[in-house]
Amino acid sequence: MAVVGVLALQGSFNEHIAALRRIGVKGVEIRKPDQLLNVSSLIIPGGESTTMAKLAEFHNLFPALREFVRMGRPVWGTCAGLIFLANKASGQKTGGQELIGGLDCTIHRNFFGSQIQSFEAELSVPELASKEGGPETFRGIFIRAPAILEVGPEVQILAEYPVPSERLLGSDSAAKGHKVGIWQDNVEEEGKVIVAVRQGNLLGTAFHPELTADTRWHSYFLKMANEIRDEASSSHVPLEVN
Ligand code: GLN
Repeated sequence: MAVVGVLALQGSFNEHIAALRRIGVKGVEIRKPDQLLNVSSLIIPGGESTTMAKLAEFHNLFPALREFVRMGRPVWGTCAGLIFLANKASGQKTGGQELIGGLDCTIHRNFFGSQIQSFEAELSVPELASKEGGPETFRGIFIRAPAILEVGPEVQILAEYPVPSERLLGSDSAAKGHKVGIWQDNVEEEGKVIVAVRQGNLLGTAFHPELTADTRWHSYFLKMANEIRDEASSSHVPLEVN
């Protein structure tokens, strides 16, 4: 049975473990640096990224997490977990918050607003469609959700979502959001923001697949992790023994 580590400092780690169980995969809680040695892939759940960062710092997890990412191990960040993986974060209270980094993007921590602006939406995700013609739509749950505003050339965009009208510069709510410090950088033009990405060994979703009964994102991550493991073992040059 495959084993996946789930960072269990705070947030929806139990829900990820339950979703993994539904697809026959064991999820193990990770709280200490040396526990990362026992797993070959990792999920960083949603929650509150400042709190999670403080706890990660307290447990001295940042160096081990960065090494895990740098070694090319598969890591999936959902919501706060995605913020953790970004190279750069903007938005409310980002000053001084430590990030793991690795994902070449700029993320806005609270792009879609506060708790009361949480929502569910149908997303189009071609990567999730099955060969047998299964649907490519996925119902995303966005809770105080971030959005990716910019990506580097290596990043594959898996899903986008239209910028909500209240977020546009000049709207009343955007002005109010600015006053209370939720939105510092309002968006000038109508368009779309990025809500799911992949860059090599890193996967990120701004929403919470672990809170739905649909396990396709978990299966997608497992498939990605297996491919990475197979590539690593086929490129492995055995030691020459004379
Ligand atoms: N915006 C939140 C943060 O900054 C993340 C919310 C979530 O994980 N549901 O941490």
